[in-house]
Amino acid sequence: MYSPLAIGVYAGLGAAAGLGLAAGGCAYAAYWPGSRIFGKTLVAPRHPGELALTFDDGPNPAFTPRLLDVLASHDVRATFFLVGSHAQAEPELVRRIVAAGHLIGSHSWSHLNLALAPLQRVHDELARTSEALEQIAGVPVRFFRPPFGARRPAVLNAARQMGLVPVMWNAMTSDWSEPSADAIAKRLARTIDRLEQWGWAANIVLHDGGHLDQCAYRGPSVAAAGQLALRYRASHRFVTLDAWG
Ligand SMILES: [Zn+2]
Repeated sequence: MYSPLAIGVYAGLGAAAGLGLAAGGCAYAAYWPGSRIFGKTLVAPRHPGELALTFDDGPNPAFTPRLLDVLASHDVRATFFLVGSHAQAEPELVRRIVAAGHLIGSHSWSHLNLALAPLQRVHDELARTSEALEQIAGVPVRFFRPPFGARRPAVLNAARQMGLVPVMWNAMTSDWSEPSADAIAKRLARTIDRLEQWGWAANIVLHDGGHLDQCAYRGPSVAAAGQLALRYRASHRFVTLDAWG
């Protein structure tokens, strides 16, 4: 999920770009998903026809099981960026995600804004999450999505030193606050189709959890994932992020 600050940065991007690398530019570098000013991150390759569904902020005992059923019914695999503390509270659910063939990645231990955190705390958040996920699921953790998309060079370097590939996205809508699954799926489909016209795969963010509430209501996000699977499964290939990096 994204803080009001991050949403404000999105809204202000045009102005920030116009100001160059002044204060607005730093916000752009730290938060804008496509920015590489603070270092290279995995977004999506030039593989039109490929879609990566990614889910942040879980596992959520109230909605992740439902999401797993939806994905299984469409034979689609996805990537789950798990909050470490949430995973520790729901280890069986983490194992169920992995057993279903999905990929898990790190979304930090406490969903901290790492762009603002001391470096030692960044290191602790990442190390603790990888260790817990690997212990619970028995698989290595290779991918990391910064909470709020917030990063700085030291955060990306710390992640890489721990063997983690930092991941951003190129298709997102405010699914966490949108009550209509139709609206979520429609907006994402518009972005997916535009990316495809430009020759890019789509790295799609949805939320099965909530960083402030592990059991957050995510019915519309889960239903939207089902709609996207139904719409694209015949014409596109759904991949997990290890297909790209
Ligand atoms: Zn998040």
